[in-house]
Amino acid sequence: AETWEQVPLAPEDSIFKLTAGYKADTHPNKVNLGVGAYRDNDNKPWVLPVVRKAQRIIADDTSLDHEYLPITGLASFTSAAAKLILGADSDSLKEGRAVSIQTISGTGANHSGALFLSRFYNFNGSKQIYLSNPTWANHHAIFRNVGIEPVDYSYYDPKTVGLDFDGFIGSLKSAPERSVFLLHACAHNPTGVDPTQDQWKAIADIFLERGHYAFFDCAYQGFASGDLDRDAWALRYFFGKGIPGLVCQSFAKNAGLYGERVGALHVIPPSKEAADRVKSQISVLQRSEISNPPTYGARIVSLILNDEALFAEWKRDIVTMAERIISMRKELFRLLTEELKTPGSWNHITDQIGMFSFTGINPSQSKAMTENAHIYLTTNGRISMAGLNTHNVRYVAESLDKVAR
Ligand code: PMP
Repeated sequence: AETWEQVPLAPEDSIFKLTAGYKADTHPNKVNLGVGAYRDNDNKPWVLPVVRKAQRIIADDTSLDHEYLPITGLASFTSAAAKLILGADSDSLKEGRAVSIQTISGTGANHSGALFLSRFYNFNGSKQIYLSNPTWANHHAIFRNVGIEPVDYSYYDPKTVGLDFDGFIGSLKSAPERSVFLLHACAHNPTGVDPTQDQWKAIADIFLERGHYAFFDCAYQGFASGDLDRDAWALRYFFGKGIPGLVCQSFAKNAGLYGERVGALHVIPPSKEAADRVKSQISVLQRSEISNPPTYGARIVSLILNDEALFAEWKRDIVTMAERIISMRKELFRLLTEELKTPGSWNHITDQIGMFSFTGINPSQSKAMTENAHIYLTTNGRISMAGLNTHNVRYVAESLDKVAR
C-alpha cells in the first residue's frame, strides 16, 4: 500500500477559496467582501505610518542582534501589552498576578491558552469549551486539537440580526458550574454583534454565580471603536469583578502586523503565588512548542507602546482605520434606507461593530451577489467592511438592494 493512502483529502478553506475566485475574476467592478484584513479607500493594504517609523528605528539600531528571545518573549513587549489590554491601573497588574507570554499572534494565544487549560484546568466533568454560535471557525479546530470539545452557546438571533441575549443568559445558567466560556472581547467575528455594557454586567453576574471561566479572545482592540480602552471594557470589568479568566491578544489588526504574528496570552490567576506556578507551566509548554517567539513584530510593538510620541501616533492611526470602517457602515446604511429604500430593516449595519457585519441575507442571496454582481462574500451573509470604499459602496448597496427585493 502507498504510505499516505489512508489520508483523506481535506476540504478547501472557504475564505481561501473565496479569495481565489475573486482573484480569477476579470470583471472591472468585482468586490472582495471576504477579506479579513484592513484595506484603505483604494482597496490597498495599509502599513501604519507609526509602524514605518518603528521599522526605521529598528533598522538603524546597531545594538540589536538576532539572538533568541526568552521563552516567554520580549519582556518590554509583554509588560506593555499587558498594560494596554488589562489597564495600567488594573488590580491584577498592581498585585503582580498577571501571567503574560508572547505568542504567535492571536491564533497562537488561543492555542496556548487552550493547551494550558487542557493540561491544568479543573474541568467539571468532560473537557469542554462553550463557543458562541456562530464563532470564528478556527476556534473549533484550535480546541479540538488539544482535546477540548467545543459546545455551542446561544448568541446570534437571525430574526433580529442581533444578540440573542435571553438565549445567551440561558446557556450560561444551564451550563455546569465552572464551565469555560469563550467570549469575544469586542467586535464579535463573524456577526459584528456585541453585548451592551449593561448586558455584559448581567453576563458577568452569572459567571460569578456559576464560577464560570472567561476565555476572552481580543483580536480587535482599538480597531472596533477607535478607542483602545472602550474595546477592552468588558474584559477589564470581568477581571475587576474577580472572575477567573485569561485573554488572547493580537496586534494583527490594530497594528496592521498580520504577517508578523505578534500577540500575547495573559492569564489572570487569583494570587501572585498561583501566577508563579501558572507561569512556570506555561513556559514549559511554550518551550516544547516554539522554544521562543519571533523578535521582529514584538520589537515594533514594544517601541510603539513604550514611547509616548509613537503611542500617540499609533492611536491616531487606529482612529483612521476605525473611522473609515464606521463611515462605510453609515454610508451603506444611508444608501439602503434613504436612497434605494430597500425593503427590510438595516439598523444592524450601523449597530454592529468592527471589521465584519452580518447582513442578514441568506445563502442563495449571497450566491446571487457573487454570480450576478461579482461581489465575493461568505455564504452566511457576512461582509467585511474593510472591502468597502467610496468607489464601490454604492455598487454594493445596489446589488444588496436587488437581492433583497
Ligand atoms: N480571534 C478572532 C475572533 C479573529 O477574528 C482572529 C483573526 N481573524 C484571530 C483570533 C486571530 O488572528 P491572528 O492570529 O492573525 O492574530
